[in-house]
Amino acid sequence: LIRLNYHNVENQVDEVEEWVSKLGIKTTKEVEVPKLLFNQVIGQETAGEVIKKAAMQKRHVLLIGDPGTGKSMLAQSMVDFLPKEELEDILCFPNMEDPNKPKIKTFPAGKGKEIVKQYQIKAERDRKDRSRSLLFIIFSIILLGIVMAVVLRSYSIIFFAILAAAFLYVLLAMNPVARVERSMVPKILVSHNTNDKPPFIDSTGAHSGALLGDVRHDPFQSGGLETPAHERVEAGNIHKADKGVLFIDEINLLRPEDQQALLTAMQEKKYSISGQSERSAGAMVQTEPVPCDFVLVAAGNIDALRNMHPALRSRIRGYGYEVFMNDAMDDNDENRKKLVQFIAQEIAKDKKIPPFDTSAIVEIIKEAQKRAGRKGKLTLRLRELGGLVRVAGDIAVAEKADIVTGRHVTMAKELSKPVEQQIADRAIEVKKLYNTFLGEGEAVGKVNGLAVMGSQELSDLSGIVMPIVAEVTPAQHKGNGMVYATGKLGDIAKEAVENVSAVIKKISGKNISDVDIHIQFVGTYEGVEGDSASVSIATAVISALERIPIDQTIAMTGSLSVRGEVLPVGGVTAKIEAAIDAGLKKVVIPLSNLNDVILDEAHRNRIEIIPAATIEDVLNVALVKSPEKDDFFKQLHDTLGENEKAITTQ
Ligand code: ADP
Repeated sequence: LIRLNYHNVENQVDEVEEWVSKLGIKTTKEVEVPKLLFNQVIGQETAGEVIKKAAMQKRHVLLIGDPGTGKSMLAQSMVDFLPKEELEDILCFPNMEDPNKPKIKTFPAGKGKEIVKQYQIKAERDRKDRSRSLLFIIFSIILLGIVMAVVLRSYSIIFFAILAAAFLYVLLAMNPVARVERSMVPKILVSHNTNDKPPFIDSTGAHSGALLGDVRHDPFQSGGLETPAHERVEAGNIHKADKGVLFIDEINLLRPEDQQALLTAMQEKKYSISGQSERSAGAMVQTEPVPCDFVLVAAGNIDALRNMHPALRSRIRGYGYEVFMNDAMDDNDENRKKLVQFIAQEIAKDKKIPPFDTSAIVEIIKEAQKRAGRKGKLTLRLRELGGLVRVAGDIAVAEKADIVTGRHVTMAKELSKPVEQQIADRAIEVKKLYNTFLGEGEAVGKVNGLAVMGSQELSDLSGIVMPIVAEVTPAQHKGNGMVYATGKLGDIAKEAVENVSAVIKKISGKNISDVDIHIQFVGTYEGVEGDSASVSIATAVISALERIPIDQTIAMTGSLSVRGEVLPVGGVTAKIEAAIDAGLKKVVIPLSNLNDVILDEAHRNRIEIIPAATIEDVLNVALVKSPEKDDFFKQLHDTLGENEKAITTQ
């Protein structure tokens, strides 16, 4: 049995402090932030190279990876590498022959606004000319009336002249030609300034109209009050991204019809705009094809691949690149420096938070180590880590501190716990209150198991102590013993017992088909995962079978193989923290998980961590020292020895 204390990990943590002190900086103010967005993306070198190459060749890209690892940042940085092409303004003109098919014309960047202005000026001038000539005609008629009235000495003629003038005025003012002239002014769909960079359009979560363009509904439709069709045309994101980058995260959530349309747009490089809602007057309108020559960067997590339109994916594969993002990077000199740069970047981006001192940098690096969940790695789930930087900054600001220290970061960690962690905290409080676990003394058949709560999506898993109780009774039907498991994890428990029954039989020498085994998970909560409980279940069952008490100051986690080896599990750090928070003294973890333990300041040196390679190791620690235990182990060694012999002679 290997019994390690925690000093090796301790040393590693001190090492971070030492490393930061060697940087020779006092605060992040002295750290340079790269100007080019591309150089601000850290830890994604492979993806970065691909993005650069794709940009230069105008290829589409599919970025798959965890949220907050820099997918949209990379997509955005593409615009700096796109080949220098002329941006174009896109205008929509009325179509005199077919009003429901507005015309589309493109102009060099910056020209669009000028053209519209010219049309407006012309329309205005025409309007003025017209009203001037109208007034002239009316005055002439009235004047003529007066002259005739004087000549003919019949004053009623004046009355008729005024009547005629008024009639003429109404007729001309309502002249449809006038309205036609006003509606000759084209509508700007897409416009740029002459020196603009290529556009980056984030279309994540956009509905069809926003993505593909739309024609607004016209409530009046006729009778002289209608808005001309071309004025109701709205560009979609695919058109706004013309000559630039269109970014769509969670691509799998895009409706299949929209994915199909997107595919068409990518193939044709132009796409007509029509009304998206069937019942609206806009649905009758369809423009000429509108240019949409964009580079698509589609993103998503690994699930996205499954729900993505196969044709769309194949289009990207055939005409572009697929990249899998890193979720962690090696914990080395270079990458730590990048992490420091990242802190400086986040501060610069936020604008409100003060610089971080070295103690704060140390805490962030340690948190990055911890969230990576593997020793020798730093997390790249940087959106979440950036959140921590901001919360720490806000706390410092609230304290009116002009510098963020390690203390602020520690407080921020407490504040920015995910909901799962908060539930786990509350659950622990409740459990303590009702004493569902002993935390001291000894008990037969009762084990402090450890579980994690929360989705694997979060890099910040939450641990919880999950007591498991086993009771053994003579089988109701001899030779046909059953496993009864209650609590939310019933099925997992049954499976675990089946998996380990061979081990139990081998170790205890008892045939479990002669007994009924009852297993209860005490107070399990929604969202608790149980696949890593098999070591705990086996220990509880063996204790109950052999009537040897278990030390209740111990917690344990581990998955058991059918051969009795303890296999690694996820979330060990979170589980150990839960054991510490619950006031337990020792924790048994799989030997192969030892490198994954990264405890923070608040949890260091507060529990004895005992790595175990086999169920024997676990039992040796967990079962309370007693003559029964000695007997048991003696017997165990005998049976194991015999087994070995049996195997070799076979
Ligand atoms: P994604 O698109 O993968 O969900 P984003 O690119 O939107 O993630 O990242 C969100 C934020 O997290 C960024 O604005 C940045 O502050 C930070 N961030 C994420 N990944 C990185 C990275 N690789 N390098 C630097 N900052 C990052």
